[in-house]
Amino acid sequence: MFDKIVSFIKDIYKTHNGKIPLHAPVFAGNEKKYMLECVDSTFVSSVGKYVDQFEIMVREYTGAKHAVATVNGTAALHLALLLAGVQRDDEIITQAVTFVATANVITYCGAHPVFLDSDCETLGLSPKALEAFLNQQCIQKDDGYTYNKTTGRKVSACLPMHVFGHPVHIDRIQFLCNRYRVAFVEDAAESIGSLFEGKHTGTFGRLGILSFNGNKTITTGGGGMILTDDDELGAKAKHLSTTAKVPHPWEFVHDQTGFNYRLPNINAALGCAQMEQLLGFIEKKRKLADQYKEFFDSIEIPFISEPELCRSNYWLNAIVLADRKKRNAFLEYSNANGVMTRPLWTLMPDLTMYSHCLRDELKNARWLEDRLVCIPSSVTT
Ligand SMILES: *Cc1c(COP(=O)(O)O)cnc(C)c1O
Repeated sequence: MFDKIVSFIKDIYKTHNGKIPLHAPVFAGNEKKYMLECVDSTFVSSVGKYVDQFEIMVREYTGAKHAVATVNGTAALHLALLLAGVQRDDEIITQAVTFVATANVITYCGAHPVFLDSDCETLGLSPKALEAFLNQQCIQKDDGYTYNKTTGRKVSACLPMHVFGHPVHIDRIQFLCNRYRVAFVEDAAESIGSLFEGKHTGTFGRLGILSFNGNKTITTGGGGMILTDDDELGAKAKHLSTTAKVPHPWEFVHDQTGFNYRLPNINAALGCAQMEQLLGFIEKKRKLADQYKEFFDSIEIPFISEPELCRSNYWLNAIVLADRKKRNAFLEYSNANGVMTRPLWTLMPDLTMYSHCLRDELKNARWLEDRLVCIPSSVTT
């Protein structure tokens, strides 16, 4: 059975004696041309035409009113939380199944993460778990805001993450956030090209973020983007990411403690070339997912498909094995035989630095952790 899967993947990537990575970037367009132009122009740093152009391209593609490019997705997330009004000692709801950056940025703000369970269809934050937490553990005070009854802390934001590019149940989560006056911020780091009811992920929340790390659907080497429809937040994002410098021909006036989070022009040059290929990349990734689905159906192994009402970018394809023993055996076999596979991330509250944090029972999260395996998902060439 495992050998059948491994040979199927090797056939897809036409690679029979080298390692097949989980997700490698593809540079098949104007990458070299734009980077060379960028070097020739000498504008390789935080000012230049490629940064502006990259932001315009992402804005037009996602439909977000504002897009602000940052050095990486983690920096974008950090700023997004600050801009959403997160303050020291607030409580921020997120999911236990996520990449560690989601939890780290909450800590950067001096706030406390609450790790809730996953939805087995989307793999992301469970709306049921969110409702149970808000309804049973929290109280809405006279100021309209929601507070944790036990800790007394203000629950100021909810930060769901679209796992492997599959959108969470955005409508239900957004409804709950509105009702409890909790700022809705989307970690769409993995989901460029993924839509919920035809609208791009990362554009539903007050703010959303994308990542362009080397393992994501498109890459700028390192890079990220803050998305928002709010004019004021858009302007503040740019200001805060560029050391909060007040525009002036020569004076150095900074009106608050800002950040050096702006994306360099040379990275943006790569981003512009990658954006030009994004439609084709998504088409190929969706075709690959179709091939995987057909194959895994034929050997009766569940394959993670896009949730209802969604179009997923299928950033990482994943299968669900019978139990933890089978999962480990397959990880062992595939990695030893030239096919890179990975389990789900260690659940956040199982990491030492987050072991003291609030969480719910995490029943689905643990079920998924025991069974899920990610398989090679690079754009096929
Ligand atoms: C990739 C990723 C980020 C941001 O990562 P950077 O490497 O900082 O760009 C954040 N959250 C999730 C869920 C991610 O997968």
